[in-house]
Amino acid sequence: VLGHRLGGGMLAGATGGKIPLGLKRKSMRIVVTGGAGFVGSHLVDRLMERGDSVIVVDNFFTGRKENVMHHFGNPRFELIRHDVVEPLLLEVDQIYHLACPASPVHYKFNPVKTIISFFSILLLDANGMIPSSSLTSRLLHKTNVVGTLNMLGLAKRVGARFLLTSTSEVYGDPLQHPGGDLLGNVNPIGKCSKLLRRGKRTAETLTMDYHRGANVEVRIARIFNTYGPRMCIDDGRVVSNFVAQALRKEPLTVYGDGKQTRSFQYVSDLVEGLMRLMEGEHVGPFNLGNPGEFTMLELAKVVQETIDPNAKIEFRPNTQDDPHKRKPDITKAKEKLGWEPTVPLRKGLPHMVSDFRKRIFGDHADSGE
Ligand code: NAD
Ligand code: UDP
Ligand code: UDP
Repeated sequence: VLGHRLGGGMLAGATGGKIPLGLKRKSMRIVVTGGAGFVGSHLVDRLMERGDSVIVVDNFFTGRKENVMHHFGNPRFELIRHDVVEPLLLEVDQIYHLACPASPVHYKFNPVKTIISFFSILLLDANGMIPSSSLTSRLLHKTNVVGTLNMLGLAKRVGARFLLTSTSEVYGDPLQHPGGDLLGNVNPIGKCSKLLRRGKRTAETLTMDYHRGANVEVRIARIFNTYGPRMCIDDGRVVSNFVAQALRKEPLTVYGDGKQTRSFQYVSDLVEGLMRLMEGEHVGPFNLGNPGEFTMLELAKVVQETIDPNAKIEFRPNTQDDPHKRKPDITKAKEKLGWEPTVPLRKGLPHMVSDFRKRIFGDHADSGE
């Protein structure tokens, strides 16, 4: 419904050479690691629709077969259950590297799932953070470091173009208007509680090392808060929490005073940005996010308007290091990729709500939008 088309510019051919848009382009072989996840599966849909051959590599840590099942039986589609921490031999033209376990920080507020998913949570430190010696930490680091190294090794061997999905987290906490200078504010050897930040920063460094040292064609995207259908229901992110809570007639849990802001990007906008980045000329990093800013209380209001005007709001204590503000500066993506988001929160949210309604209540759920 909210699909996009690549606009002006050039498309890469199978060998990385450029052909003008409008001419028939050769179909490509593309790997999407983490392709059974939320963002990955939407990307796979677009690549399949474009006529490419797609190989999804996923270990189903947070991804689900259901997200890509509609492509089963298509000869251009292949799903491999594989952990990117192990080497992988494939012959491909492009690699979209999305595989990454969801940030364990998000599991803090969901102790039941946490214990089922990560028995190492039993070792939570005094701040409620997962200690870096734990299983989860090793898992996250291994995927971001060894997994990224393997995919870069693969890109180098076959001459494929490699795109890394990094995160706004790399900018660090005191981010007022991140990405204007694309620098951020972090101490590389500091005691940082955010495992994801450390993992992605290492992944970015490895990516640039392979680019500079081995001439691998690379692209780096720094992704800001994204929402949409197929998002994990219970990962503790604010949009998925509020939507699931309103549907289940539970109070919406606002952390702190609810005046902190985030900007929420609809998944089809992100996928369009990722594809433009991959096909374009620029390495990046590029911020990909929607600059439209909302306080958590405003978000709760939009969710009430969309699902249930009578939904109650309940205040809960916030985490200590929660950023007050997060809003992407997308000037560079606008200029160099000709990209900007087109789907506002009030337009995107109903699509996520109908997907959540089906997944929570089953196929016979009222689609009462
Ligand atoms: P997701 O959890 O839905 O998708 C990640 C996928 O990677 C899952 O399918 C999971 O099973 C798979 N995976 C994890 N470890 C793996 C491994 N070792 N081997 C193979 N597969 C593995 O998350 P998402 O929101 O779709 O995120 C996709 C990418 O975008 C991630 O790299 C994430 O860090 C980045 N990102 C997302 C957001 C957001 O708001 N969604 C924000 C910033 C960055
Ligand atoms: N690798 C892979 N698939 C390939 C090529 C390499 O998984 O097609 C892995 C390889 O096992 C290694 C990593 O990528 O662990 C880095 O490879 P590279 O060739 O850069 O380094 P080297 O193997 O020389 O240490
Ligand atoms: N948040 C909230 N209620 C929830 C979950 C999160 O108010 O049920 C807040 C959280 O404190 C943060 C914001 O929403 O200020 C975004 O949190 P999320 O985990 O979705 O993303 P991130 O903090 O990584 O931007």
